[in-house]
Amino acid sequence: MLTQNLGYPRIGSQRQLKKACEQYWAGNISLKELNATARKIREENWQLQVDAGMALIPCNDFSFYDQVLDMSMLLGAIPSRYAPVLSQNKNNHETDLYFAMARGYQKDGLDIKAMEMTKWFDTNYHYIVPEFTAKQEFRIFSEKLFGEFNAAQQFCGDAAKPVLIGPASYLLLGKEKEVGFERIDLIKKLVPVYVEIINRLKTLGAKWVQLDEPCLVLDLSAKEKEALVYTHQAIANRVSGIKILVATYFGALQDNTPLAVNLPVAALHIDLVRAPEQLDEMLKQLPDRLQLSLGVIDGRNIWKNDYEKSLALINKAVAAIGAERVLIAPSCSLLHVPCDLELETELDYGTKNWLAFARQKLGELKDLAAIFEGDTALLAANKQSIEARRNSTQIHKPAVKERAAALTAQDAERLHTFAIRREVQRERFNLPLFPTTTIGSFPQTDDIRKLRATFKKGELSLNAYEKAIEEATIAAIRWQEDVGLDVLVHGEFERNDMVEYFGERLDGFLFTKNGWVQSYGSRCVKPPVIYGDVSRPRDMTVRWTTFAAAQTERHMKGMLTGPVTILQWSFVRDDQPRETTTNQIALAIRDEVVALEQAGIGIIQIDEPAIREGLPLRKADWPQYLDWAVKAFRISASGVQDDTQIHTHMCYSEFNDIIAHIAAMDADVITIETSRSQMDLLEAFAGFKYPNEIGPGVYDIHSPRIPTTQEMVDLLQKAAQLLPAQNLWVNPDCGLKTRKWPETKAALENMIAAAQTARQLI
Ligand code: GLN
Ligand code: ZN
Repeated sequence: MLTQNLGYPRIGSQRQLKKACEQYWAGNISLKELNATARKIREENWQLQVDAGMALIPCNDFSFYDQVLDMSMLLGAIPSRYAPVLSQNKNNHETDLYFAMARGYQKDGLDIKAMEMTKWFDTNYHYIVPEFTAKQEFRIFSEKLFGEFNAAQQFCGDAAKPVLIGPASYLLLGKEKEVGFERIDLIKKLVPVYVEIINRLKTLGAKWVQLDEPCLVLDLSAKEKEALVYTHQAIANRVSGIKILVATYFGALQDNTPLAVNLPVAALHIDLVRAPEQLDEMLKQLPDRLQLSLGVIDGRNIWKNDYEKSLALINKAVAAIGAERVLIAPSCSLLHVPCDLELETELDYGTKNWLAFARQKLGELKDLAAIFEGDTALLAANKQSIEARRNSTQIHKPAVKERAAALTAQDAERLHTFAIRREVQRERFNLPLFPTTTIGSFPQTDDIRKLRATFKKGELSLNAYEKAIEEATIAAIRWQEDVGLDVLVHGEFERNDMVEYFGERLDGFLFTKNGWVQSYGSRCVKPPVIYGDVSRPRDMTVRWTTFAAAQTERHMKGMLTGPVTILQWSFVRDDQPRETTTNQIALAIRDEVVALEQAGIGIIQIDEPAIREGLPLRKADWPQYLDWAVKAFRISASGVQDDTQIHTHMCYSEFNDIIAHIAAMDADVITIETSRSQMDLLEAFAGFKYPNEIGPGVYDIHSPRIPTTQEMVDLLQKAAQLLPAQNLWVNPDCGLKTRKWPETKAALENMIAAAQTARQLI
């Protein structure tokens, strides 16, 4: 049984690449030193895979920043604004051009904006969006691929398999930067360059090349389907003596199955973790010449593989097409899981025994191959740990399950409709027209971060720590009073991260020490692991919120993270539907909302910035997801009286296609990001006649720039043309934690002046 891998994490098990890149950007290490770190990571990764006995080992899966940007470099798709980076300074290396595209370039009198970044399918990884013009040309530009292949060959011999993003997916991942053409039409210009690349790899001795075509799991237009057929036909016509593997992942091929199995390639990889049900149809349609790679190990999650389940899939495939034609693999690149579970020295044995990170997943593939050949001891040992997890009393809490199972439609309903709630809330809060507020966090200064870190390390007493947080909170409140905000926040100084903070206070979550996953460039995140039934052993935010409320006469807004966002930014259980886990979290948040209400907090915000991210890749699956996601939010928000005002916040700027569901969340007030699109997206709300109150962000907190009063007045006037003025709030477009105090103060002063002016004008 042959095993293969599609991609390995490149940040290094100790985030060596992150650290080296940041040192290089800061000018503290040389390019040579950066390259040496990179080479070491690549070699260590290859060695692990050689040791695991893989038949095919990926190369060019390494990247300094992003694999899509690597493709743009390889294919010479370099936006013209970067030309001066190379010509300005003769010493500039390709690497500097590359980082300029990724991060922008402010040097040598140049000021060039970075390329745009967006989410990689439904993951939390962000890629750099290729930019295309009508006259776009492609040519081999970067030599990185060939260099890495040469090195991989020395390490892995014939197993070395270069990985590229396939032409159709590459184009679809990009964006037209001019009107008058469709990027998919560039396929005819692009494919010859791929032919040249693959032929060069063949000359260098490559036996296989992996072309990732994840677009095959999406809804494709006829034209896009044609582009895929054209691509592989053209490659087959002009390349021989090297095998092409087309890799699909993150979903089922569904209606694209006939297209995929008829591509003239050597092998097809399918994701059997996300979509095990697609195997039957695949085996029916698979022509005799095609090899099939079974993605049986979860590349998106951290659970130990259930060998029995995988084996059932493997045996089914083998029975249908013979073992010679079967490969086994992770479902997708292992980029999306942390490197090495062995580094988690503080997890207890029981818990650790449920998990597998990238390195352990290589071992699982090796095990599965051995089990297939008859090793029964490995199978028995795996069965034991799978069973231990299945029956663990740490995971299964009957009371939590029963409560979630007993949820009724009533639990997702406020006592009365918004129209009625609004009246009692108006009476209670007595806010002016255009009430002003912020989204929650105030600047997380180095001092505040240090404070939390030293406390966590045990170097600061609880007393001293709380005193310091109290001081920061009081200072933020005094300042909010002085500047004249209507609804105050406590500032979130006690919080490291909006999900981690709650995860640490809920049962059913565990945290790793080194479980880093690349989010974008050098930025890594350490998602919590939801391993068990979720419950709330005690109050989570009441202490800080009531402390803050007691410092002021003004309204103090409580601040919580919503159930969908907590789910979305964690590794989640694979032993029950996401919906079930989300409902458990929703009940825990609901209890916290009620506890805040009982403690006298009248305004409570439940942030849900990740609702949109959770959208399934196929449109047909949207309604079901939106239905349970919206319901979970409503469960969390509906335990309160009519006169408690529930806010929510979302920081993305596309609402058109989900506006009805956003409205169905029925928050009394929603604050959203709009400033970068100049209120255009408010049109979605206007068109829908969005009935509840809404705070369209009037300035962009992602930049240190201080907005003028006038520009915010203009935005408010524009907003008041689209929606009733009495529904509008005035706020920045997200939390202020990444900003510094001086710019925060200046910007909010201007914002409040803008609200005052707008009140006069209406
Ligand atoms: N309340 C959070 C904050 O202000 C919201 C953050 C977010 O939307 N991502 O930081
Ligand atoms: Zn936000």
